[in-house]
Amino acid sequence: MGLIANLSEWREERKLESLGVTAQDWQRALGDWSVYLRYQPSTRIRVQKMALRLLLRKALIGAKGLELSDQMRLRIAGMAVVPVLELGLDWYRGWETLVIYEGPFVTEHEWVDEYGVAHLERSALCGEASSRGPVVLSFEDVRSAGGGKGHNVVLHELAHTLDMRHEGANGAPPLHPGMDAAAWKRDFSSAWDDLERRIRLGESSPVDEYALEAPAEFFAVLTEAFFEKPAPLARTWPSVYQHLCDFYRQDPGVDK
Ligand SMILES: [Zn+2]
Repeated sequence: MGLIANLSEWREERKLESLGVTAQDWQRALGDWSVYLRYQPSTRIRVQKMALRLLLRKALIGAKGLELSDQMRLRIAGMAVVPVLELGLDWYRGWETLVIYEGPFVTEHEWVDEYGVAHLERSALCGEASSRGPVVLSFEDVRSAGGGKGHNVVLHELAHTLDMRHEGANGAPPLHPGMDAAAWKRDFSSAWDDLERRIRLGESSPVDEYALEAPAEFFAVLTEAFFEKPAPLARTWPSVYQHLCDFYRQDPGVDK
């Protein structure tokens, strides 16, 4: 088993080298992304390698005839691996496909009300994730991700997939040994209450009110803020910030 694992890793390594992606390619794909630029050069190389591995292991599919350029693939993959950089790609084992739309896409959801009348609800989304995949993204939103406002649809949807690895989408991913699940729940709940209060009083907050749609959204939105705009999050809810550091095994607020 060990030999097979090593052999397939070795094969993957050879394939990565044969892809011939250059430093300039990475610069074009991720050179405007502050999260990537914050990493030390050696860590950026790890992001690049893991992103190429992701591209070998998962299918990236353009929806409705969208042609994905190499630059688009590298940008999506480079952003996608940041949450699991210190956890490993196996954390994405549950899904196989990333579907990319050119812009926001419309989903239809049918539901029946208390009088037995069926309704068709349409909504335009910039991203979507389900436990077995696919992960769906709008490239328009991928392009604008990381624009300094704390939003990043790629980090958001992939945070959902991590959350879903443990008891469904409930705002708590599987925690590492030594992490305190009760403390996680207590601190996230009090941050939730504090955000509700801030929004009610019109006070500034590190994330917007979309986080309050559901506990799963709270975790996904806080993950975006954690990587994209760590300082306000660390200042406002230090214990939640620390839980996220412990879970992602990264501290974006500290230069590395
Ligand atoms: Zn979401």
